[in-house]
Amino acid sequence: MNAMVLKEFNAALVIDTAAEIPEIGPDEVLIKVKACGICRTDLKIQKGLFDNRIIHLQHIMGHEFAGTVERAGSRVRGMAVGRRVVAHFYISCGKCRFCKEGRENLCSHITRPGFELAGAYAQYVKVPADNVVPLGDRISFEEAAVLPDAVATPYHALRMGELKPGESVLVVGLGGLGIHAIQIAKALGGRVIACDIDEARLKVAAGYGADEVFNARDDARVEKVQDLTDGDGVDVCLDLVGTPASFAWALPSTRKGGRYLLVGYAPNQPLQIDTVLYHVCEWRLLGCRASTRQDLVEVVELTEKGLIKPVIDRVYALERANEGLKDLAEGKILGRGVLRM
Ligand SMILES: [Zn+2]
Ligand SMILES: [Zn+2]
Repeated sequence: MNAMVLKEFNAALVIDTAAEIPEIGPDEVLIKVKACGICRTDLKIQKGLFDNRIIHLQHIMGHEFAGTVERAGSRVRGMAVGRRVVAHFYISCGKCRFCKEGRENLCSHITRPGFELAGAYAQYVKVPADNVVPLGDRISFEEAAVLPDAVATPYHALRMGELKPGESVLVVGLGGLGIHAIQIAKALGGRVIACDIDEARLKVAAGYGADEVFNARDDARVEKVQDLTDGDGVDVCLDLVGTPASFAWALPSTRKGGRYLLVGYAPNQPLQIDTVLYHVCEWRLLGCRASTRQDLVEVVELTEKGLIKPVIDRVYALERANEGLKDLAEGKILGRGVLRM
């Protein structure tokens, strides 16, 4: 099969036209990949920012994908060849306390295609049948490909943050996750204030339902949020950036007793917190990691109902993956870029 392979860190991917098609076990499914999202995490992997116990070279990236069932293992039921599917990409043990509580994203034995395992920058990828979520016919493969991460991750975070109808939510960072976070927050009945440092993204955000948008470079950004919320700050802050710079102003833009959802992360850049303020304000600071399988089932449903519209800006052929990664790194993509096989 064809695959785009990371042979060394900080280098372009290389096409391998004779990569081995993954061999499936009795409980696994081989998926013929139709589309695979290009995620900012892929840039971090390419740069070598992940622990070397997670990423082993040579490596095939790609953790959000959609396709059809090509083959199913001997113990798998209900996975007819040709069925349209997406996959939850956190492969968990199914036995530990976290798995039993339905928080399999916290399982201590996680492996993931595109991280520890071979991913979907390739014609085929394999996953356990339990991770597969069926798709109807109403969503294109390109749109479906971005549901497992760009849509399910902000959905999971807003679910953890218990956003209620009528509450205000500040979305910080309007990349691939942010543009979908706006739509999910609106679908949940929230009043959405969205910000980014890029004017083009602010325009797109307004088009996808944000009630207010502003440039995060504005020096008066905390006051701006307070003005929009009767002086209190937002009920929920969804931080999709997670750098010391975003945290420093977005936390004080959150009301006393509000929830701060930390989704973005920056390796080797610890956040600073004023513990007096943290104490006085009783902020609830919640780390939010990816999503659960159930989150993915629910975002598939919301998308099929038309409540979420995946934002696919650019589509590249598999062998043009380097171009897609470059466009993402240069901030040229509004929403998600997707590889098409
Ligand atoms: Zn991702
Ligand atoms: Zn587990």
